[in-house]
Amino acid sequence: MIIKAPKGTDDITAQNSYIWQFMENKAQNLFENSNYKEIRTPIFESTELFHRGVGNSTDIVNKEMYTFIQKERSLTLRPENTAGVVRAYIENGMHRLPSPLKLWYKGPMFRYERPQGGRKRQFHQIGVELFGIQEAIADAEVIKLAMEYLNELNISGLSLEINNIGCPECRNDFRDKIRKIVQPGLNMFCTDCKIRYTKNPLRMLDCKNETCKELLDTDELKQIINSDYICNECSNHFDNLKNYLNILDIEYIINKKLVRGLDYYTKTVFEITGNNLGAQNAVCGGGRYDGLVEMLGGKYTPAVGWAMGMERLMAIMPTPESNKIKAFVVSNDINKALKLVFKLRSNGVSTDFDLLNKKFVKQLDKASKLKADYAVILGQNEINSGTITVKNLKTSSQQTIVEDKILDIINETTT
Ligand SMILES: [Zn+2]
Ligand SMILES: [Zn+2]
Repeated sequence: MIIKAPKGTDDITAQNSYIWQFMENKAQNLFENSNYKEIRTPIFESTELFHRGVGNSTDIVNKEMYTFIQKERSLTLRPENTAGVVRAYIENGMHRLPSPLKLWYKGPMFRYERPQGGRKRQFHQIGVELFGIQEAIADAEVIKLAMEYLNELNISGLSLEINNIGCPECRNDFRDKIRKIVQPGLNMFCTDCKIRYTKNPLRMLDCKNETCKELLDTDELKQIINSDYICNECSNHFDNLKNYLNILDIEYIINKKLVRGLDYYTKTVFEITGNNLGAQNAVCGGGRYDGLVEMLGGKYTPAVGWAMGMERLMAIMPTPESNKIKAFVVSNDINKALKLVFKLRSNGVSTDFDLLNKKFVKQLDKASKLKADYAVILGQNEINSGTITVKNLKTSSQQTIVEDKILDIINETTT
């Protein structure tokens, strides 16, 4: 019997790995250029990290984690990476590094969900975290960075939604107000919302259940949501953020119902959505999490960040051009061919040749199949006269040159 990959996982094959490389290279160049350094944390962590760091009222922790016991220790495949990065930040004493500390990461995450519409159980995220800055300028920087990354991937038709969900002080007030309003009808809400009612009623606002949506669609609640319940400090922070976004020419929509599915957010939350992704249309989600470092045992450190799902990005990104080789050496003199191949490769020209030394015509055929830019031909005539024929496979034009000139020709005519 053939063994298949587990449901919700994909192989990244040789045919499409170039798309991943494209996205990762763009991320690396852009982030390093903005002074963000890459961090790589383990794929599994102590289960407790996610209970404390992601939150007990979240679907992620309650339903979606891959948890296993190894020698009586409970471990979990990371369902997201902020908790792990914060754990590493504390454990490695990164607060002693010059502040702010700007980090980025990429890698697989794991959530047990029903695989649908590009949602995978092993999926991949790219994200950034900025530690040490309280002010809204940090929020603006990471949002701008997200927009620039999407721009690098040639993704257009996106909109940015922002909200400020308050700090621990002003949010408690807001939570109580929501509880008061929904309490009379609490029986009719879904099981999840009943739990959220106690743990974090804010999260009821983004329940996907239709009944819950209807129940929440009351004027009284709308009024509460739209009233500026946040405190002065939070409200100033939000004004400053809007101001910076204006300076950076970033368009945004204020969505008062945006709360994000994680418990650790404070003040700023944001999402970037694509117009053609359907219901699951967020390609980027993030926000500020000023309390998390302290909550996980570190010194109080304000922080802000975001994550993007790479599979989602891929679904709306124009497919980039695949990596092709530049030269294919065609010759029946295998010894001469070998030498030429390695000479070209060591000079930075991506080159391949026919290991089976098949007929000339077949080799030429292979060169076109591989979509090489050039066939570099070493036939008997060329060998006798110390020359090489370079054939441009796109234009079919060819020229015979002295052997020494080969690099000049291939490097000067970039197609
Ligand atoms: Zn506040
Ligand atoms: Zn609900």
